[in-house]
Amino acid sequence: MKKYSSKRILVTGGAGFLGSHLCERLLEEGHEVLCVDNLYTGRKANISHLLKNPDFEFKRHDVRFPLYVEVDEIYNLACPASPVHYQYDAVQTIKTALEGAINMLGLAKRLRTRIFQASTSEVYGNPLVHPQTEDYWGNVNPIGLRSCYDEGKRCAETLFFDYHRKYGLKVKIARVFNTYGPRMHPNDGRVVSNFAIQALKGEDITVYGDGSQTRSFCYVDDMVEGFIRLMDSPDDFTGPVNLGNPHEISILELARKIIHMSGSCSRIIFKKLPSDDPMQRKPEISLAKEKLGWMPATYLDKGLEKTLGHFERLLKDRDENVIKLKDIKKAVSLK
Ligand code: NAD
Ligand code: UDP
Repeated sequence: MKKYSSKRILVTGGAGFLGSHLCERLLEEGHEVLCVDNLYTGRKANISHLLKNPDFEFKRHDVRFPLYVEVDEIYNLACPASPVHYQYDAVQTIKTALEGAINMLGLAKRLRTRIFQASTSEVYGNPLVHPQTEDYWGNVNPIGLRSCYDEGKRCAETLFFDYHRKYGLKVKIARVFNTYGPRMHPNDGRVVSNFAIQALKGEDITVYGDGSQTRSFCYVDDMVEGFIRLMDSPDDFTGPVNLGNPHEISILELARKIIHMSGSCSRIIFKKLPSDDPMQRKPEISLAKEKLGWMPATYLDKGLEKTLGHFERLLKDRDENVIKLKDIKKAVSLK
């Protein structure tokens, strides 16, 4: 039976890594979910297990175009997130960030609903303040390779606040720090998926630069919990609020950890550091603790164990499919 507080909730980017986990969690809580995605970086496989749920609906749609639906809440996640993906077509990335925000804000304005924005730690650029607090305005290159994403997300925050001030819209902005877990796209070029796949295949682990740059990795379930707490927080709390795990680790250390945990024979090789790659990143999460009672609960080792398990299964299924395909071809050629 449905809870009396059950809502119809729109998740844009719902077929992506974070979006699919969010859809799953909202369904578990008894809500109806409308997942909107153009499948640019997301995959049907991420949501295939939800399609048989009568409370789940998938709509293929590009948020750069207006959307006419009736919902009670909006989570706006649609945007490629991996540097490789968002730089592949920088113009489409910035259009998705801006036009997507404008279209979803327009929808929220018509429906008078709360709207959540998945912003990013990238708004701090290559930060000169460490750890990063929400009142730090950042150090962002406006014309570099990462700018389509960084500046797109910064301007989206501006739009959210202008709609809030001008129309009294109830906005919720999360600044998401590096998140990892099952269903990351195996080829999306992000560090955890790259290292996990390389280690499991026994290939060289590609550390960019000397690996001294740091990141702080948050497990996906913790992040989704943060999203929901922020959406459910009192109207006067808009954010921006940092969501991430403050446990900081260098990329070289991460490579060694993944090799160790997977029992891999991979060696570490060093490649050129991409331009504008931030040297350090660690969230200050006092605001999230105070306002949302939120902090991450998953240790890196535990989260990596689950993530490695996921990629291991993925590779095994793929190998089995290749073998099956070979058998089919052999059988056909024998006839
Ligand atoms: P993802 O690439 O797996 O998911 C993004 C989803 O958005 C995909 O399903 C993609 O197909 C969809 N999409 C892209 N452009 C679209 C468009 N024009 N119209 C409709 N759908 C579109 O990435 P993710 O890691 O799940 O990230 C989700 C959100 O969280 C993004 O907004 C990202 O900026 C933000 N974020 C993620 C991280 C992280 O570490 N995962 C960190 C900071 C911010
Ligand atoms: N990185 C790396 N090897 C890889 C992929 C990424 O050394 O195969 C580094 C990258 O240069 C960056 C960090 O890992 O310093 C995190 O990269 P990711 O793309 O996951 O996210 P970012 O935080 O840069 O957006």
